[in-house]
Parts: sequence; C-alpha cells; structure tokens
Amino acid sequence: MPLEDIEVGLSDEEQAVRDVAHKFAAEVMRPAGAELDRLADPAQVVAKDSVLWKVFDQYRALQFDAIEDGDGDGDPIQRTRVRYLVSEELGWGDSGLAISLAVAGFPAMFARISARPELIERFASPTEPQIGCWAITEPDHGSDSLAFDQPHFDDPAVRPNCVARKDGDEWVIKGQKAAWVSNGTIATTAALFCTIDPAEGFKGGGVALVPLDLDGVSRGAPLDKLGQRALNQGEIFFDDVRIPAEYMVIGKEAYGAVVEMVLALANAGMGTMFVGVARAALENALAYAKERVQGGVPIFQHQNVKSKLFKMFAQVEAARSLARRVSLYNSTHPPLVQYSIASKTFCTQTAFDVASAALQIYGGNGLSREYPAEKLLRDARASMIEDGCNDLLGLVGAEKL
Ligand SMILES: Cc1cc2nc3c(=O)[nH]c(=O)nc-3n(C[C@H](O)[C@H](O)[C@H](O)COP(=O)(O)OP(=O)(O)OC[C@H]3O[C@@H](n4cnc5c(N)ncnc54)[C@H](O)[C@@H]3O)c2cc1C
Repeated sequence: MPLEDIEVGLSDEEQAVRDVAHKFAAEVMRPAGAELDRLADPAQVVAKDSVLWKVFDQYRALQFDAIEDGDGDGDPIQRTRVRYLVSEELGWGDSGLAISLAVAGFPAMFARISARPELIERFASPTEPQIGCWAITEPDHGSDSLAFDQPHFDDPAVRPNCVARKDGDEWVIKGQKAAWVSNGTIATTAALFCTIDPAEGFKGGGVALVPLDLDGVSRGAPLDKLGQRALNQGEIFFDDVRIPAEYMVIGKEAYGAVVEMVLALANAGMGTMFVGVARAALENALAYAKERVQGGVPIFQHQNVKSKLFKMFAQVEAARSLARRVSLYNSTHPPLVQYSIASKTFCTQTAFDVASAALQIYGGNGLSREYPAEKLLRDARASMIEDGCNDLLGLVGAEKL
C-alpha cells in the first residue's frame, strides 16, 4: 500500500510522470535489483546476459534525463518537482540501480556546462547515449577530495593518485581512481576529477571528459560489497592516456567551486532518492504488520508495533519535506551546499533508521533473504558513506554556518 503524497498543487502532467516512474520502479527496477543483489560474483552484475542492460534500455526509452535543470525550456519549479518525484520513485525501486542510472549522465552534464557544441554532440548526444561515471575518489583520497573547504585542500604535500599534464594540444593522464567509482566497470566515458597542478594540492584540479576506450585505459575487477550490490563499481587506471586539450572542461581556477557545486547537486539527489528507500521500508513493514498474526491479532494491533510504524511514517515525511525543499531551492538558485548536505545526511540516516525499525517489525523474517527488509537495510547503510561520509559532510557543511 503506497504512502500518499500530499505535495500541494501537483499538475496532471506531474502526476502522470510520477505514475510512469513508479511503474518502471515497481515492474523493472525492483525485480532486477533483487536479482542482481543475490548474485554472488559482482562480475555477473555486468555480464552480457545481465538484467542490468534491460534496466538501462527501458530507462532510456522513458527519457527522464531530458528533464534538466538550468536553462532548459519550461518552468524550472515544475521541472525540479518532476525530477524529485521521479528520483524518489527510482530510489524506491532500487537505490543501487538508481545511482547507476543517475551517474551515467555525469559526463553529459559537464559537456553541457562547457557550452561547446562539439563536446555536447560528442558526449551528450541523445541518439548515442553514453554510460558515464563520476571518477573523483582515489585509493589514497576519499573524504580528502570532497572536503573542498578543509585546510588540506590546497596543501601540495597531499599527493594525488591521478594527475594530468599538458603536452602541446593534449593532456596526458596518469594514475588511477578508486574501486568506488560507480559504473567504473561499464562506463564508456568518465567525468574525471584529477590534479592538473600538484603545486596547489587538490585545489589545482581539473575536470576532463575522458572516453574510456582510449589507449592506456584499463579497469579493475568489479567491487564486492555489502549493499547496493546492483550498482557496479570498479577502479579505472590511466597509463599516459591522451585527450585533446578541449576535453579538459574545467580548469584549476574553477575547480574548488565546481567540487562544491557537484557536491550540492549530488547530495540533493541522494536526499530525494533515499526518501524513496525509507518509504519502501515503511510500506513493506506496514503491509507485513497488517498480515502477520501473533497473539491472535495482526501485529499492527499491538501498540508497540503501531507506534513504531507511526514514528517511521513521521520520519519519512520529515525527510521528504527537507529533500524537496532543498532540491527546489538549489535548482532554482545558486545552490547552497550546506542545505544539500543537510538533506543527504538526514535522509540517508532516516533511510537507515526506518529500514532498521522495519527489519525489527519483520522479526526473524527480517533477517531472511526471502524478505526485502535486510536488503533495504544494507542499501541504506551504504548511502551513509556514498557521496561523502555523513560525518565528514557535516564538517564541510558546518563551515557555512
Ligand atoms: C555506494 C558508494 C558509491 C560511490 N560512488 C562513487 C562514485 O561514483 N565516484 C567516486 O569517485 N566515488 C564514489 N564513492 C566513494 C565515496 O565518495 C567515498 O567512499 C567517500 O568519499 C569516503 O571516502 P573513503 O571511503 O576513502 O573514506 P575515508 O575518507 O578514508 O574516511 C574514513 C573515515 O574517516 C573520516 N574522515 C576522513 N577524513 C576526515 C576529516 N578530514 N575529518 C574528520 N573525519 C574524517 C570519515 O568520516 C570516515 O568515517 C562511492 C562510495 C560508495 C560507498
């Protein structure tokens, strides 16, 4: 039984898009996510016969990526509203797949930011869609590379693992990105965040669009992990990979501001997606509590279960309100990263807390892989590290207070 949505003033069109997203989440993502989650070997997730490809194909056919921020046509408030309604549904369907679909669009976003027609045609063509990734984390630098307002960010003593140097009309990339790069095993293009002036530490960074079929690119084995197992992740190695100078779309003068902007956009997206995870856990637990009989009545009739469910309901609604308010502000104004961080940390923590309470309501069945409760808990747990550890993000956001 789906949770009602009390968003005021939804147009028929907005309702219709949400219904389409819900159907896709329920009929395609949920079963695919459950199937991929159970695969023992993460290499099977990206195998030729994997259901992952059907998810990508059907998602593309729905054209949700055409709903953009910024200068696109139409009312920006309506566009944002549609995006967060869709994002919540995709998170509700399967968060690992939702992340995979979302990061696939990162290089196209940077091509559009560059405003260069040849890059837009090469990296953001709707007729030849790429699978992109956001490659920022390095083996030696996770939190380091996101914490743009912390003292280490311009310290040249912090040695990067991935550097690009200018050579005539080209950039030459050497080094590697960590096993945590989402879509790292399947991406055709990377939005690569790398160091271009090591004398300035991370601040001397740049963002390059890198086709991943170039000479010198290789990949690591798919990562095996606790949650969001449908999300493929893996290292990308660069051995003197050459790209044309114009593929470096962000230079060092803008790099710190771009890390802040991307964190603001990505964290706001994580907020809406993990409201979907929290909602899924609540809906499952509510349905189970109305069916499971103990002491002669459905466990929903026991006061402790009923009050637990109401607390979960209030938590989901509070997270939803924050996520939507922040998304609406940040996609219609210059984004304020502290609000996005508040949304991401609050919503992912809520997803984890609600998923944990849901598992308790399932009793022993909550621990069984035959029921959906344990997967949602594992998926939610991963989100508290993804896109920045929640504790570190809090420090970054606090600098703005
Ligand atoms: C599911 C998932 C998807 C991901 N997707 C991507 C992706 O698409 N692309 C990509 O590049 N990366 C991705 N990541 C990587 C993610 O961004 C990093 O894992 C995250 O930034 C934390 O880095 P780390 O794992 O190296 O932890 P570390 O940085 O080593 O942190 C370890 C601990 O130390 C704490 N800590 C670290 N530094 C500080 C500090 N300065 N002050 C106080 N405490 C600190 C942290 O809070 C944490 O508890 C993903 C990760 C996950 C889990």
